[in-house]
Amino acid sequence: YRAKENKDSFQFYASEMNASIEEKLVLLEGLRGALEACVDPACQDPAACQFQLLYQPKVDLRSGRLFGVEALIRWQHPEQGLISPLRFIGLAEESGLVVPLGDWVLRTACAQAQAWHAAGLPPLTVSVNVSARQFEDKRLVERVAGALRDSGLAPAALELEVTESAIMRDLARSVETMRELEAMGVSLSIDDFGTGYSSLSALKSFPISRLKIDKSFVRDLAHNPDDQAIAMAVISLGHKLDLRVIAEGVETEQQRDFLRANDCDEMQGYLFSRPVPPGQIAALLAR
Ligand code: C2E
Ligand code: MG
Ligand code: MG
Ligand code: MG
Repeated sequence: YRAKENKDSFQFYASEMNASIEEKLVLLEGLRGALEACVDPACQDPAACQFQLLYQPKVDLRSGRLFGVEALIRWQHPEQGLISPLRFIGLAEESGLVVPLGDWVLRTACAQAQAWHAAGLPPLTVSVNVSARQFEDKRLVERVAGALRDSGLAPAALELEVTESAIMRDLARSVETMRELEAMGVSLSIDDFGTGYSSLSALKSFPISRLKIDKSFVRDLAHNPDDQAIAMAVISLGHKLDLRVIAEGVETEQQRDFLRANDCDEMQGYLFSRPVPPGQIAALLAR
């Protein structure tokens, strides 16, 4: 009876697996369709676009000043409601759709930042996440230049967030790409720092301006001595390499106080604000 039981459970898992593959395919088709509608130049209706960008403030820990925002994508699915990037960026990455999708993000974020600037808001840096596949794309530098040119945004107002793992896939080429972006005046930051495995000698050669402490180290920062040690080490490493250090996922005053007391430069997290639609940024700046 063991064999039968195993066979049944195998069938059970196989059908579960089929369901999830089918679910993935359906999501992928939806992604493809939604993307086509967004990038179609003939489509003049922004409401037809199922993707939207929210913007999360980044604040200076010493002055409390809001100096920048990170663009974070959301997908308003017609049947499934709001879908988190954690559910579709991986799929977009595997299928290659992340390249045109990322291009839309880049263009939309640059246009938004330029619109804030034109409306007379204080200067803001907009940060855009770039996934591994986008970062490897031979035309990335060209795409960034295009988004800047078409929006009229100053290159210094754009930052790209890249993870260590994306950079380490092809280190030599990555450094070359980063140098070209730097030469263009765009800045770079390492996202989720501490969760990848870039060697310290490699880090030294990156033309970056910021390290972003991953939120997994921030979560228990008030109580966990290991996380405290890691955060302090990243801050001191960053400063010795002449980089600014930002902490993500800051939710409590205790976390903020620890970071400030330990000389972290900037923070981002629900404590100050959740990611918000672009229309709410002016009010947050005034706060
Ligand atoms: P990330 O770049 O590390 O972004 C930080 C994530 O932490 C965001 O999740 C943000 O909403 C969330 N977060 C911010 N503050 C807090 C906090 O105080 N507590 C907690 N628990 N979380 C906080 P989100 O928006 O769901 O994005 C998840 C990931 O999806 C991002 O991680 C990024 O890797 C990816 N992603 C988002 N938008 C884009 C995009 O436009 N392009 C690409 N390639 N990836 C994106
Ligand atoms: Mg990020
Ligand atoms: Mg991050
Ligand atoms: Mg993260």
